[in-house]
Amino acid sequence: MKQKACIDELAIFGFAPTFEEVLHVGRPNIPDPQRVADRVYDLLNRRWLTNNGPLVKEFEQQVAHRIGCRHCIAMCNGTIALEIAIRGLGLTGEVIVPSFTFVATVHALQWQEITPVFCEVDPQTHTLNPDHVETLITERTTGIIGVHTWGSPCAVERLAAIADAHRLVLLYDAAHAFGCLYRGESIGNFGDAEVFSFHATKVLNTFEGGAVVTNDDDLAHRVRLMKNFGFAGRDMVIHLGSNGKMNEASAAMGLESLGELDRFIRVNRRNLAQYRTGLAGIEGLTLFERDDASSNCHYMVVEVDPSRCALSRDDLMVVLHAEGVLARRYFYPGSHRMEPYVSKYPGVHLPLTEALTDRVMVLPTGTAVSEVEISAICHLVRLACQHGETIAQQLRFLKGD
Ligand SMILES: *Cc1c(COP(=O)(O)O)cnc(C)c1O
Repeated sequence: MKQKACIDELAIFGFAPTFEEVLHVGRPNIPDPQRVADRVYDLLNRRWLTNNGPLVKEFEQQVAHRIGCRHCIAMCNGTIALEIAIRGLGLTGEVIVPSFTFVATVHALQWQEITPVFCEVDPQTHTLNPDHVETLITERTTGIIGVHTWGSPCAVERLAAIADAHRLVLLYDAAHAFGCLYRGESIGNFGDAEVFSFHATKVLNTFEGGAVVTNDDDLAHRVRLMKNFGFAGRDMVIHLGSNGKMNEASAAMGLESLGELDRFIRVNRRNLAQYRTGLAGIEGLTLFERDDASSNCHYMVVEVDPSRCALSRDDLMVVLHAEGVLARRYFYPGSHRMEPYVSKYPGVHLPLTEALTDRVMVLPTGTAVSEVEISAICHLVRLACQHGETIAQQLRFLKGD
């Protein structure tokens, strides 16, 4: 890898890309491979592969302990965990949900024929806007799902007050927020329940996985039944259920990842500090930041302001992709503008969300990206933004207009 001295050397002008091997957003954090392999070797010898095995039990205990909550029910992925939490909490009718989220949050409702009512997010926090939530409540509303986007906590006090006043269920999609705190308290303790994802791209992964965490004993009991076909014992089914079980190999990965989580988060914080310095003072480009001592800092999010930056977000992405930096738009164009929602619920217009989906760009971070690589990425972004007009011209030329 060689840093480019001037814009003529950029890949969009025909030069070799900065990175021969492309840099992805969301490359997994991998704990010590030998220790994971040893655990897998043991579980194979035990011949206990799934169905509430010893590793899953240990993983659930350790997660609950780390979060400081009463119950953790581990699952095969975050989406099934959301679906089971939604059903376990008795949601029906209409549920208020942000459009600015990974579409799984919305699918988990629609999958069980619950109407998602799309809500705006606050452009400062990228989470559910409580004022807008209040305007969307009808007689059919049974709950609210908040998403702690990028690990940025929702307005948990306001949302709890609204849910209380209207007797609504409050569920959080905490897929991004494992290891995050709000005023010193771990995410996982808010609302009626919270759902984590342990997908490969998340800060802590179990290959695929997820969990429902809650301090409600009755809900925990129901969710436990529901993730195992409703079985209360051998031959005894007492509840509607599905198959949401986590397997032992996933739990092995999860246990080793938990042991290294603080290291993963330290690396993310160091990366964020480096990006902050490296991207400082670029006109129209801002880092999305909340209190990073309370965040897992797992998403390196920048906002490109189209009225101030010399390049649009999408043009900047073309430049970066050509260099082998696979920066990504997130939640674009917003769930309400995706199928089946755009056809099922036409006419939904969310100006704040739509503007945000045009500004947000996520850059590579995590343990898979090095200090030298981040420095080269920052250099490229700066170079591109400093010569916005020349670059926009070249991109028009390449497109043939
Ligand atoms: C990843 C993610 C999910 C889904 O989790 P899976 O484990 O991939 O099923 C749900 N919501 C959000 C916000 C996510 O980022």
